[in-house]
Amino acid sequence: MANVLVFAEVRSGDLRKVALEAVTAARQIADLSGGGNVHAVLAGAAGIGAKADVLAQHGADSVLVLEHAGFAQYNPEALAATLAQRLGAGSYGFAVFSATAQGRDLSPRVAAKLGAGLAPDLTGFTVEGGQVFGQHFNMNGKTIATLALTGSPAILSVRPAAVQPVANAKPLATEAITSAADPSASRVKVVELKQGNTGKIDLNDAPVVVAGGRGLKAAENFKLCEDLADAFGNAAVGATRAVTDEGWRPHSDQIGQTGRNVSPNLYIAVGISGAIQHLAGMRTAKTIVAINKDKDAPIFKIADYGIVGDVFEVMPALTAAVKAAKA
Ligand code: FAD
Repeated sequence: MANVLVFAEVRSGDLRKVALEAVTAARQIADLSGGGNVHAVLAGAAGIGAKADVLAQHGADSVLVLEHAGFAQYNPEALAATLAQRLGAGSYGFAVFSATAQGRDLSPRVAAKLGAGLAPDLTGFTVEGGQVFGQHFNMNGKTIATLALTGSPAILSVRPAAVQPVANAKPLATEAITSAADPSASRVKVVELKQGNTGKIDLNDAPVVVAGGRGLKAAENFKLCEDLADAFGNAAVGATRAVTDEGWRPHSDQIGQTGRNVSPNLYIAVGISGAIQHLAGMRTAKTIVAINKDKDAPIFKIADYGIVGDVFEVMPALTAAVKAAKA
């Protein structure tokens, strides 16, 4: 039995979906290890504590709330000091982070402070003989490594969308904590946040993803995806590797085994064949709609709804229908 400390990622004063995934993963690990407690760390400016109940609902037994103006933006030095101090107190078997830009920066800082090992970018967990293991894609996804999460604590990060957030009714228990280092003295300061994705909403957080493939034929035709995403209003645009290799979209838009994992409520695959490496990054989407002119395209095997047709005819009609439904 081991307690788990999980860092809940916040952006612009709001919990990210990856935070709920991380707490769900922490709950799984605690249960696999014999039923330890999950403590979530929630850091932000004054008022962030109001989000604690969401973490409790996803399986945190208690939420450690760190409110300070110095945490209004990501503050790696003060966060690493605080988390390492908590973990160093010795009552934790695991520390869980999201394998996001922030988590990939913070988790090694904490591991280095503790002299602990780090298992990054895990996609699932198993237990054997009381030992918890994590799975990690290696060599561009050609092999899967199984890592024994040993050490106390074992530090790990969870790949976005690898774990489905699960609502898990828990009574809210919070504890206010203080920073182990002066947050305003940090040598690292976030001065500006720039949206990497051309959409207004991050691919990992978007409830709707419109993803385009080589069937769109050229970079400028991604306007068809952007128009549909705009019509939904809460959608982000993604792409296949064939597209990012062509340079039609940035690599940060790539979905799949060697790109990003997404798990939206609705995934619309536009001119995408459905290669196994692409499916690895989106198969957990709740509803999948595929548009492809080839009725035998593999994407139709996992699609909930399939439209056999030319994307250049179907997409404008679909966008008009979504706009009409929203009007
Ligand atoms: P294609 O396979 O060329 O499919 C295009 C589809 O568009 C076809 O099905 C065609 O019927 C349809 N089409 C064409 N014209 C139209 C039209 N006018 N209207 C409607 N439909 C049309 N891929 C990823 O996506 N993500 C990854 O992370 C990834 N990682 C990889 C890792 C490794 C180690 C390897 C070896 C490969 C990886 N790939 C990845 C590549 C993957 O194998 C495929 O090559 C890629 O996903 C294909 O992209 P696509 O579906 O856009 O293109």
